Amino acid sequence: MSGIGILGVSGRMGRAIANIAAAQDVAIAGGIDRNGEVHGDHTTAAGLADAADVLIDFTSPEALAGHLDAAVAAGTPIVIGTTGLSPEHHALIDAAAQKIALVQTYNTSLGVNMLRGLVEEAARRLGPDWDIDIVEMHHRHKLDTPSGTALLLGASANIGRGAADGRALNRFDRMQEGPHEREEGGIYYASLRGGSVAGDHQVIFATDGERIELGHRAESRAIFAKGAVKAALWLTQGRAPGRYTMADVLGL
Ligand code: NAD
Repeated sequence: MSGIGILGVSGRMGRAIANIAAAQDVAIAGGIDRNGEVHGDHTTAAGLADAADVLIDFTSPEALAGHLDAAVAAGTPIVIGTTGLSPEHHALIDAAAQKIALVQTYNTSLGVNMLRGLVEEAARRLGPDWDIDIVEMHHRHKLDTPSGTALLLGASANIGRGAADGRALNRFDRMQEGPHEREEGGIYYASLRGGSVAGDHQVIFATDGERIELGHRAESRAIFAKGAVKAALWLTQGRAPGRYTMADVLGL
């Protein structure tokens, strides 16, 4: 195996992935970053895609189209961990998944993917009398709000409430939309940014007189890096073209 190609190799997640791969004796084919920083011999996404068995992308939404083109041209599977994606980005991912196997996920950790199932089940069983709010906190450098994981959890709640489409978000944010009566069926998000928090998420189900709180705290990026490497190795096991999730990787 020539190894994993890391897109965004100089970033927080790129470095964490390189560390986990080294600790697990998983080969690294190389890595590239935006400012021409390179680990190994390959200087472009296309060159890295040709050389690697699988790519892992934790970069920025603007980089996605080029990275998908490189992966499709080389026939190389890719794990997409970048968040802040728009519906147009998701359409590009759907199109690429016709040609290559890929995993797109807003959270690679086992814990959050377990939580996702619990949230879906709670929303299904509790029914519409229970309001749903999602509170998340991340480090001071994180740009997108709400976090991809918060949206993943909100989508799971919507599926539990009967939505056919996991991308229907019923999303509201009081900070952006100002004071208003709670929208029926709405899922409300609040985002905090500060310090070095790797990722905290809390899903609150509230009804008259009681609340249920389901949550997850990431203590370090290593959990995301381990999940990303696991997904990459899973993709190299002869997967047919298609769009897969961490639930597929983890067998949940
Ligand atoms: P970061 O800013 O530390 O790293 C991103 C790296 O990507 C930077 O080094 C940047 O230079 C590089 N980059 C940006 N555009 C590029 C391009 N066009 N070509 C090559 N490199 C490019 O950010 P981070 O904390 O490592 O997070 C990266 C992304 O991963 C974010 O979207 C974040 O929300 C997401 N994330 C996802 C998960 C998950 O489990 N799915 C977990 C943590 C972070």
